[in-house]
Amino acid sequence: MNLITAPRGTFDLMPQQALAWQWMETKIRAVLQAYGYGEIRTPIFEHTELFQRGIGETTDIVEKEMYTLTDKGGRSLTLRPEGTASVVRAYIEHKLYAQAPVTKLYYIGPMFRQERPQAGRFRQFHQFGVELLGEESPVADAEVIILAHDLYRQLGLTELEIHLNTVGCPHCRQAYKAALTSALAAVAEQLCSTCRVRLERNPLRVLDCKSPVCQELIGRVPSIHNYLCADCRDHFDRVTTLLEQVGVKYELSPKLVRGLDYYTRTVFEIINVNLGAQNALCGGGRYDGLVEECGGPAVPGVGFASGIERLFTTLEQQKKIPALTSGPQLYVVPLGEELTVVAFEVATVLRRQGFSVEMGNGTKSLKAQLKTAHKAGAAYTLIIGEDEWREGQVTLKTMADGSQKRLPVSGLVAEIAKLVSLQGPQVPLREE
Ligand code: AMP
Repeated sequence: MNLITAPRGTFDLMPQQALAWQWMETKIRAVLQAYGYGEIRTPIFEHTELFQRGIGETTDIVEKEMYTLTDKGGRSLTLRPEGTASVVRAYIEHKLYAQAPVTKLYYIGPMFRQERPQAGRFRQFHQFGVELLGEESPVADAEVIILAHDLYRQLGLTELEIHLNTVGCPHCRQAYKAALTSALAAVAEQLCSTCRVRLERNPLRVLDCKSPVCQELIGRVPSIHNYLCADCRDHFDRVTTLLEQVGVKYELSPKLVRGLDYYTRTVFEIINVNLGAQNALCGGGRYDGLVEECGGPAVPGVGFASGIERLFTTLEQQKKIPALTSGPQLYVVPLGEELTVVAFEVATVLRRQGFSVEMGNGTKSLKAQLKTAHKAGAAYTLIIGEDEWREGQVTLKTMADGSQKRLPVSGLVAEIAKLVSLQGPQVPLREE
């Protein structure tokens, strides 16, 4: 029989890796919450139309990367390829705009794109992201950029670059598009085949092309900065001033347009310089027309999405993930099969008190059980011997130094709580 493996472009997380992911997710959530964002959980699949309207018909995602299926009721559904469209849909559906002038939401979870798998690029991958809705001030743009940057720094990353640009508003972009189209039309023959199609359908997307020949041609086309209207110019200047004000360095990237159609004005990416070809940790920007495009009121928005796999790889490369253990705090060792029931009871009582407890097999020798406890990473073992138990006592062994002491069963919970410095529920993750 053929072995069934995980589908191409997907992966399993084994318990030790999952611990590291949990550590990372806990840190991410803490920073997002500190900046005032509340979590929103939207469905993994949505009506296909949401992404067609929200992301844009001419984007790579909608044109060729979506996992779309028709359900038994004949509805076209799509596994979400990104988070913003769903958040905007929920924002409109639940009329959040009527509850407060500004709404700050974050999401974290899996996304699905049928891309060619390679290092840093998967078909099921994970993102977290924020959406700040209802604020048109450049302060919001600066806040979101600084949030992403601070979050990476708080995780310990240093080799970061912020690449910043503006794509103007639909008004000034119109003039730029015309200038860009005529400049590109002059060299159309030399563009790659994808860009020749882009030139017809959405010339701005040509600026995104990674092919060296297109890159060279793009270097010679006019810059959007010469076509910005006064409002867009002023908005961008204020964003950069705010970043400078708080000492956040950025690089101007006049050719950065980002793949999605919905961006207006500010766009940015944060790059980890050591990550190789797929070096963008996150990308985002302002999307003032999106809420309206999706059927809501004219509410401005700004946000970013960060890839979790790439963040994890970066943290691993830079050795920023601490040693983590999921081993039990306590391992109960019954000395003899008859004491199994007693050990089971002790383990259950302690688990109910919130300690993480494993227990040994009473048919095995003390030595064998201690070996298993050691392998499991237990901090303490509680040895239950027949004579001691009859006297209402047990032996507590500290695994780190091998020291042992006798304890009365009556004060066991309090004593163990003191030892592991834990009253109340167990903290699921402990840094060693
Ligand atoms: P995007 O939603 O395309 O703007 O991407 C935002 C971030 O998500 C990128 O900077 C990457 O870190 C991450 N990302 C996007 N696509 C993938 C993918 N196929 N595999 C892994 N990470 C991805």
